[in-house]
Amino acid sequence: MPSGKTHLKIEAVMLVLWAGLSVPLLLREWITSSQVVLFLGSYLFSMFLMSPDLDLSKSDAFYRWGVLRWLWLPYAWVFRHRQMSHHLLLGPLSRIVYIGILVLAGMFIYLVATGNPGPRLMLSIEILLPICLGLYLPNLEHILADQISTSRRRKRRRHRL
Ligand SMILES: [Zn+2]
Repeated sequence: MPSGKTHLKIEAVMLVLWAGLSVPLLLREWITSSQVVLFLGSYLFSMFLMSPDLDLSKSDAFYRWGVLRWLWLPYAWVFRHRQMSHHLLLGPLSRIVYIGILVLAGMFIYLVATGNPGPRLMLSIEILLPICLGLYLPNLEHILADQISTSRRRKRRRHRL
């Protein structure tokens, strides 16, 4: 299984490729610069803070949350390492739903404490699509890297027997 640093290197290389791919799309005006910024911001957030390895309470991803890392303890307790948290679709979805619950809880606490509902966000498909892609792609790259590494290790083991 690749280390946390190896995952980050793979995801950083892919980020450069995705950013390069966005240039011709921008030039043809198929996408806007604000969509690229949303994608890149979501990608970086996901790369550093939404890793599938949040299912381990001793992973790099877990410690990157700093003083807030305890927020991910219930997630690590519920999801066994490399099980559903590493599923191509359900894994990223579980973390997006989990962080959504945390945000809603934070908004509720803010509302109760201040009586102010906070800023309202108008979400459209033009905003949600680059955010979802940015959140999903680093997870996809992580899971594929884990699977490739595992299948290589199994092949090596079979050759030794
Ligand atoms: Zn992993």
